[in-house]
Amino acid sequence: MNIHEYQGKQILKSYGVSIQEGIVADTPELAVEAASLLSVQTGTSWWVVKAQIHAGGRGKGGGVKLAKKLEDVRAIATSILGMNLVTHQTGAEGKLVRKVLIAQDVYYPGESETKEFYMSVLLNRDTGRNIIMYSTEGGVDIEYVAEHTPELIYKEEVDPSVGLQAFQARKIAYNLGLEGKAVKEMVGFVSALYKAYEGCDASMFEINPVLKTSDNKILAVDAKVNLDDNALFRHSDLAAMRDENEEDPAELEAGKSNLNFVKLDGNVGCMVNGAGLAMATMDIIKLAGGEPANFLDVGGGANAKTVEAGLKIILNDVNVKAVLINVFGGIVRCDRVAQGVVEAYEKIGEINVPIIVRLQGTNAEGGKKIIDESGLKVYSAITLKEASDLVHKIMN
Ligand code: GDP
Ligand code: MN
Repeated sequence: MNIHEYQGKQILKSYGVSIQEGIVADTPELAVEAASLLSVQTGTSWWVVKAQIHAGGRGKGGGVKLAKKLEDVRAIATSILGMNLVTHQTGAEGKLVRKVLIAQDVYYPGESETKEFYMSVLLNRDTGRNIIMYSTEGGVDIEYVAEHTPELIYKEEVDPSVGLQAFQARKIAYNLGLEGKAVKEMVGFVSALYKAYEGCDASMFEINPVLKTSDNKILAVDAKVNLDDNALFRHSDLAAMRDENEEDPAELEAGKSNLNFVKLDGNVGCMVNGAGLAMATMDIIKLAGGEPANFLDVGGGANAKTVEAGLKIILNDVNVKAVLINVFGGIVRCDRVAQGVVEAYEKIGEINVPIIVRLQGTNAEGGKKIIDESGLKVYSAITLKEASDLVHKIMN
């Protein structure tokens, strides 16, 4: 699950990470109020207005703007709220901005230069360890840095059983070229950031930029946080941060019916029991000349209800030109699944795309019979080859 920048910063702050302070608002009036309040709290006289969407690249897309007067806050908030923000991470369709974060300006001039660093904590699945990635070249061009000068991105692996060691935090501060007070600040920053990552059962915390201010404080200016869905049951406070507006409606619907669903861009919908079979089915669709429109694993207990829920979600996708249902009857009986397909079909009604049902395993023949005798636009197959040939015939 992803969360907004303002929520990520709240978490960071609760773990003792210093942040660029801010207050979230969903109207221009509240944005102005937030700015005034922020000035009282932090002494800031300038502010940044930051679009809150689940995507990065907001700065370049026009979703992060500096305001030097309260009236500017109002004007900028008015233009950003309700805008469809397109960034390199949103895709061409963009994302509707419903909230802005009014944050204190932390790039004020002072005794030394400001410096933008990059830092993230994530899981290295190959080594089973956590990894802290960091770079002196933080800011809005980090993707360019990663591609053209990857040697400027350092990695520090942390053994989760012993945690982040003090020497590792110091090494990071020195590699970032810090001196004096800023070293101590960075050591504190990294240690608290790592604690936040572990404490939330996160799969990623990405802070870009981490800012060294002109008075040598180290602050999180941005926060991109990815939480592990499988651990949310033990973090009700974090689970409550879910913003359904930011999620794919089909995936949201699927989650409510306990289906593992991922939307893809193709034209053949598929519904399968078991993740491995789902992957294989997607390969078969490709080999037959189609493109999978989704990944959908209905799980071990496929029944009429789950089949109906899955079919509805697939058929809602206007790109879908055919559906392949591929179920192996192990615990679940094929005739039950076939019955489920027929019932779902009749319930949904008005289905204009062909549906291919390949059933194999317990009572497969019985299942095929139900499909064949249904009188619906549903084609049965027993072998994968038959199913694939049917897809091929429809798609070509
Ligand atoms: P992103 O573009 O979605 O990653 O959004 P960020 O929160 O990282 O902000 C983008 C850029 O806005 C940063 O890299 C900074 O250069 C700039 N920015 C953010 N906060 C401030 C601020 O307080 N003052 C000024 N002048 N610029 C800021
Ligand atoms: Mn950023």
